[in-house]
Amino acid sequence: MNNEKIHIKLYSSGYCTASTKYIFPDQPAERIAFHATWALIDHPVLGKILFDTGYSYRFYESTRSLPNRIYRWITPVFHKKEEACLNKLLELKINPEEIRNIVISHFHADHIGGLRDFPGAKIWCSEIALEFALKINRFSAVFKGILKSQIPDDICRITSFPEEEFPESSISGLTAWRWQDDIYFIDLPGHARGQMGLYLKDTSYGDLLLCADAAWSVKAIHEKIYPSRMVSLISDNYSELTRTIDKLYNFHINNPQIKIVPAHCHETLQINRN
Ligand SMILES: [Zn+2]
Repeated sequence: MNNEKIHIKLYSSGYCTASTKYIFPDQPAERIAFHATWALIDHPVLGKILFDTGYSYRFYESTRSLPNRIYRWITPVFHKKEEACLNKLLELKINPEEIRNIVISHFHADHIGGLRDFPGAKIWCSEIALEFALKINRFSAVFKGILKSQIPDDICRITSFPEEEFPESSISGLTAWRWQDDIYFIDLPGHARGQMGLYLKDTSYGDLLLCADAAWSVKAIHEKIYPSRMVSLISDNYSELTRTIDKLYNFHINNPQIKIVPAHCHETLQINRN
C-alpha cells in the first residue's frame, strides 16, 4: 500500500561556493554552489525523521569572531532565514516537536546548523563522530569544518549510537546497522570522522542511499573519480575517503537501481521533481 512507503523530500538551506577542481581535478575550474541539503523522511513506524539539518542563522552568529570567522572567509555562505530547516518545517505546517529523530551524518557546519532548533529530538550519529567533534579544540575544529558552538550543550544526553543500538550487517560491501527492515545506517568514513549515511528501501523515490559528503557528486561515484588531494586538508582521512568511494562505486555497479544521493551534488534537489 502506498501509504506504508517511506516518504522523503529533500531541501536546501542555502549554499556555499567552491571550485569544481575539488570534485573533478582533471576538469577546468568553475565556481559552483554546494547546497546544504537535508532530508525530511516520513517513516510509517518511526514517524518524521530529519537527515541532517543544513545551515541556520546561527552560522552567521557563530562565525562573527575568531577563530570561527576563518570559516566564513574560506567558504562564504549564502543562507536566507526562510531556508532554515525549522522555518521550512513551519512553512510546511509541521510542528517541530513532531521530529522525534534526527540523523546527523557528520558534524560539519553545513549539516548541523539547525540542530539546536530541535531540543526534544533524539539524535543519531556514530560515537566516533561525536567524540571527535567534542574533543577537538575550537581552533582546529574550524579547519575540520566544525563550529563547536552549533553543537547542543546536552548532546551526550540526547544522542544514541546506531553501532551500539542495532545489529551490524553488510549491504553490498557497505557496513550497515539495521534500524528497521527498510532503513539502515551506513558507515561512510573518510570525509569526516565516523560519517554515516542512510539506506532507505521502497521510498516514494525508490530505494535510496543518502551518502552525505562521502562524494560530492553522483558522477564521482559512477565514474570512480576521487576528489583533489587538496581536500585531504579538510578531510579526516583521504585514503579512507577513496576507499569509501570505491565501495560506493561497487555498490552502484551491483545495485544500479538504487539512487545514491550525495548532499551537495547539483542533481540531488532534482530528485523531488522526478
Ligand atoms: Zn562535510
